[in-house]
Amino acid sequence: MSICRPSSNKTRKTWRICGDPIGSCSRIVPLLEAHSLHDDIRGVGQGRYSHWRNALLFSTSDNSDAQTNGRVYALRWKGAGAKPWLPQLSLPAADCDHRRWSAPAKPVARCEGVIAVVGDSFSGSTVLNCVLGAHSQIFGASELRWLVETPDEVGCAVCGSACTMWTPGVLRRVGQSPDLYDAVSRRFGRHIVCDSSKTPAWFSPALRGLEAPVVRVLLTKHPLRHVASHLSKTTGPVTRQRLDAILAHLRAFHGRVLLKDEMTLRRAPAPDGMMICDLHLRYEDFAADPLGSLSPVLVAMGLSPEPGMLDWARAPAHPIGGNIAPLIQICNAVHPMAVGRDKYRRRGIFLDESYRQTLDQDGIDYILSHADARWLADRFYASAEPARTAA
Ligand SMILES: [Zn+2]
Repeated sequence: MSICRPSSNKTRKTWRICGDPIGSCSRIVPLLEAHSLHDDIRGVGQGRYSHWRNALLFSTSDNSDAQTNGRVYALRWKGAGAKPWLPQLSLPAADCDHRRWSAPAKPVARCEGVIAVVGDSFSGSTVLNCVLGAHSQIFGASELRWLVETPDEVGCAVCGSACTMWTPGVLRRVGQSPDLYDAVSRRFGRHIVCDSSKTPAWFSPALRGLEAPVVRVLLTKHPLRHVASHLSKTTGPVTRQRLDAILAHLRAFHGRVLLKDEMTLRRAPAPDGMMICDLHLRYEDFAADPLGSLSPVLVAMGLSPEPGMLDWARAPAHPIGGNIAPLIQICNAVHPMAVGRDKYRRRGIFLDESYRQTLDQDGIDYILSHADARWLADRFYASAEPARTAA
């Protein structure tokens, strides 16, 4: 078991455990507040923690120094049955050797196009980034904003610390580069960069003054599926208050985004602070026809779909951040977070229909008749019902 601290952990509250679980302790005091936001672990501490990929990020209960406070920290699983995945916490997520990045025939001098994926959390942007990144001209960078916003906690989400492309020096140099997208293009030898950072707050400054063409793609998921995705990432009973809060969040996020088509209909300038998106992609359409639905995105970048994009899980990939389900497919390994969740064992691009398990009929009816869900469904979907495709 090793405990380390991210190198410039300014608040001195975040610690990181990587290693094999250990056995018994004479007096065990569990840390509180699992699944905490990483900002809260850094800022508040007091025992907040989060299991994140192949490590546990945590704060000590009194914000003391985990390396010198004399206590022993251990990973312990309270559930029943063998947990063969626990030792894997000490391993990098995947072996880099079989997916070496092939050097481009000619060095790439600068970025010639950015695909900016905009959307709320859990809208499916990770798998979208993976599919786009399997195109021979595109680097699927995933959530580049973490390179700048939390530089000490980022790395390749596939290879982990074993990554030969995102080494600590490269992470630092690219993250501090004033020409972020050029630096990424040069490093990976691809003319086009897909940045699925998703938030207008990131893209507004990141894309300002960029000479390269940009296509802003708004990725949406049907509100019923989207609410269920949010529910599945936190614990607690499904109450109407929780549903209200998630729906209000979804409405607020999408209220800050306008599609160019909607601008045309409005015949009025966009309000200040509104992000204008060039294209709209429903996750449902993407799942039903990945290459067809991505064709407008590729055309905007002067590209055509490539059949190899459908083999995305076997393509070399070095994304920064992203949700765990597509990364499990790329790593082809069982991840601790996958245990007990059927959807993490599925392969390919599929619609997550787990709302049928997450919600009972009352919950489904409540969402479908909710004013915020109807606002979302009317705006982005032809029907309040979550059809398998929106076509
Ligand atoms: Zn990597």
